[in-house]
Amino acid sequence: MKDIGVNQKRTARIECKRCGTCCQKGGPVLHHEDKKILLTGHIGHKDLVTIRKGELARNPVNDLLEPVHQELIKVRGKEEDWTCCFYNERESSCSVYGHRLLECRLLKCWDPSELLSVIGRDTIIRADIINRDDPILEVIKTHELECPYDEIETSIDNILRERDKSKNLERLTQLVNKDFSLRDYALSELKLNEDFELFIFGRPLFKILSDRGLPFRGTKDMSSPDPSEHDTPTSGK
Ligand code: SF4
Ligand code: SF4
Repeated sequence: MKDIGVNQKRTARIECKRCGTCCQKGGPVLHHEDKKILLTGHIGHKDLVTIRKGELARNPVNDLLEPVHQELIKVRGKEEDWTCCFYNERESSCSVYGHRLLECRLLKCWDPSELLSVIGRDTIIRADIINRDDPILEVIKTHELECPYDEIETSIDNILRERDKSKNLERLTQLVNKDFSLRDYALSELKLNEDFELFIFGRPLFKILSDRGLPFRGTKDMSSPDPSEHDTPTSGK
């Protein structure tokens, strides 16, 4: 794989050649400084995804997938992969170029020092950009309590190590169903706009598990692991 992590060796390059490789690796994480750009309306909640504490994400310092130590808000990817939703492949351009977020403004693949100085610092969480009296905050709290992300990773790890496999698959099923039902409640009862779902709840658990080689089949009412496919969990993207 082509290495464009920010630890890449310096080259003679002194300007961006607009290859788009950094944008194809995923959108930026948001910092408090970026809130003013959200207020302009050029980038909104519908363009964001929450990475929950403990979820795997690409570490831009070493370019490895690692669990995040705190909740992060990122610009979401496209449907099929993590390529930033603002990246236009055909024109190799950024549709919000004039309103780029902090990390995009600082990213210079030939000189990572400025980006490295902000990574992990002053990042925002969901509550920083939701009105304090919005009832969705209570639903987020319930989701965190009833679908704790660390349990997902613990169960996946146990399944990978062949420890209490059926018990862990059962627990994952419960968590996937709870995740479904809370999303459904927010969409149907609180009339949450579905464009905001990835920001409010992060990626659906069944999608995360599918990426890890644990496909769950079923509907909102009946989710269950596919026993024919759960033997080969792999690390996700
Ligand atoms: S910063 Fe580097 S990787 Fe990103 S578009 Fe420019 S040249 Fe390509
Ligand atoms: S916002 Fe623009 S510059 Fe930043 S990653 Fe997305 S496409 Fe690239």
